[in-house]
Amino acid sequence: MRRVLFLFLDGVGLGRDDPQTNPLAAAALPTLTGLFGGKPLTASTGRYSRGDAHLIPTDAHLGVQGRPQSATGQAAILTGVNAPARLGEHYGPRPDQRVRDILDEAGIFARLQAAGHATAFVNAYPQRYFDAVNRGKRLLSAVPYAARRGGLRLRTWKEMQARQALSANFTGQGWRTQLGYPDVPVYTPQEAGAQFWRLAQPVRFAFLEHWQTDILGHYRDLRGAIKDFKRIDGFLAGLLDAMDWQDTLLVVASDHGNVEDCSTRKHTENPAMTVLIGAHSDGYAQRIRRLDDFAALIAGFLNEDIPPPS
Ligand SMILES: [Zn+2]
Repeated sequence: MRRVLFLFLDGVGLGRDDPQTNPLAAAALPTLTGLFGGKPLTASTGRYSRGDAHLIPTDAHLGVQGRPQSATGQAAILTGVNAPARLGEHYGPRPDQRVRDILDEAGIFARLQAAGHATAFVNAYPQRYFDAVNRGKRLLSAVPYAARRGGLRLRTWKEMQARQALSANFTGQGWRTQLGYPDVPVYTPQEAGAQFWRLAQPVRFAFLEHWQTDILGHYRDLRGAIKDFKRIDGFLAGLLDAMDWQDTLLVVASDHGNVEDCSTRKHTENPAMTVLIGAHSDGYAQRIRRLDDFAALIAGFLNEDIPPPS
């Protein structure tokens, strides 16, 4: 059975080969760079394919000037609608009514559900998050909003405890030390990657959102970002080891640049990073140019709409 796994990394672009500012140039990432024969995930590598893995610099501007932002960028990924063009601007971080309208109209979770494909959004949220949302203190970001519109209930500490959800930073350590859940399981990044594969088993489309990359970019925290990319690399090692490459399309994608240039707190105008992996990924990789290309790609892969050989 064909399945799409989506690891969303907020705020990761393809930037310069400068280890002083770009954690992707500084960190040893054996899994990620190993996929590409040791080439770094930077602008100089460019669009690059090796076997079943494809590095794709992805246009986050979508024809609209300015620095790409999360609400419109994520909405474009989650719907296939050119959200910045619709709004006439890049907008974020959280969706306003204009962006929610786009997510209501064409969100991928709801569309797949309507087509009979089960989906999963595996992030768990702590109780304080739900309390803040319910008090009106916090707006849902685009991914949980779209997941809810697709009939999914957001996962809680109960699912964390029952090993039916994952933490946004993979290990769950922060749930114990910062969020006040001393009993939740803690994983190594590798174990969390394998766990993502397990949690995807009942569904055709599974999504995990990792937002720490964007935060680290806003803090210009190069050392923290290097550690974070090592966790991401470990997570991918565990996932790629567990995953059935034959029938799976793994999408690792971002909404805009940020952390790849720790010389600035702002989002960058670099292309967003996309990595596609899987035995049938070749023709599909050719279809990705921009953020609004993902939704059609996901539906096409699940429906075995075979692309012409490239
Ligand atoms: Zn940001």
